[in-house]
Amino acid sequence: MRAVRWYGPHDLRVEEVAEPTLKTDEDAIVRPTMAAICGTDLNVYKGILTLVPGSVVGHEFMGVVEEVGRGVKRFSVGDRVIVSSWIADGRCWYCRKQMHTQCENVNIFGMGPVYGESLDGAFAELVRVPYADTVMTRVPENVPDEKLVMVSDALPTGHDAIVNAGMEYGDVVAVIGCGPIGLLSGMCAQAFGASQVIAIDIVRQRLKVAESLGFTAINAAEIDAVEEVRNMTDGRGADVVVEAVGKSAEILRRAIEMVRKKGVVSVVGFHLEEYTVPVGGLWLTEKTVIFSIGDAIKNGEKLAGLVARGRIDPSKIITHRVRLEMVPHGFELFDNRQALKVVVDFRG
Ligand SMILES: [Zn+2]
Repeated sequence: MRAVRWYGPHDLRVEEVAEPTLKTDEDAIVRPTMAAICGTDLNVYKGILTLVPGSVVGHEFMGVVEEVGRGVKRFSVGDRVIVSSWIADGRCWYCRKQMHTQCENVNIFGMGPVYGESLDGAFAELVRVPYADTVMTRVPENVPDEKLVMVSDALPTGHDAIVNAGMEYGDVVAVIGCGPIGLLSGMCAQAFGASQVIAIDIVRQRLKVAESLGFTAINAAEIDAVEEVRNMTDGRGADVVVEAVGKSAEILRRAIEMVRKKGVVSVVGFHLEEYTVPVGGLWLTEKTVIFSIGDAIKNGEKLAGLVARGRIDPSKIITHRVRLEMVPHGFELFDNRQALKVVVDFRG
């Protein structure tokens, strides 16, 4: 079969590889129909995360069940499924409490040995899915792949940014970073009754998309975004601020400044380093900073329902569609910000 393999920073190759086989009774083999390039994949692409050379990349995908192990009870061959990018065993203490992203056997497709066993990823004609009964969600047949594929990762990440922050009906939500996660969190905030979504970025093209979704756009390259958000909220600041950029202490501090007293900063950007944050100020103003990783296992069915009934349409942020052979080019476009969201169409 054909698959996209990692050989080093900026070195992806589409090659012929052996087809995956079931390793345990709880595995399934899925034939992807659509996958998407996620911001986290860029960390692999750039070499910030290192894989074993030859590893298959990609983790956001959906497809059709091709084969199931004897222990798989909920699915059979031919089922149309979304596969959670995060893998959980479904039975440990954390999983029993619906905290799948902290599972004792947590793993992720196509991200190398971050969590032990290195699992081959989604940019391949077939993918082995561990703990299939837990990790997969059945989806309606009548909704196109483009609307559903992000339920695998990006949409639950945006959703959890809002829900875990305890957003209430009528809140003003500011989103820092208009990449796919920021935009999807804004769409969720709208769907759940935010009175205003303020979108902040420095890339004009992304701000245009934000405006087309009904958000109020602020170009932080031109004006002071903290001041502007305060002006829009009688000097208070936003009720919830989503930090969807990551890897920057400065942006995290700005998010803390932007939220009102007793407000919540919801961090979904990717962070690996240690930073200093103003704890004294946080205490005095009783602000909260929370961190979330999207849980597609817990929320996949609900989000697929919201998409199926037209409440949220993630396909609005897709800018590029590529075939498997063109995935390395898709990464280039995404990396230099020509693309906002690239999907991989296996049938097109
Ligand atoms: Zn678990």
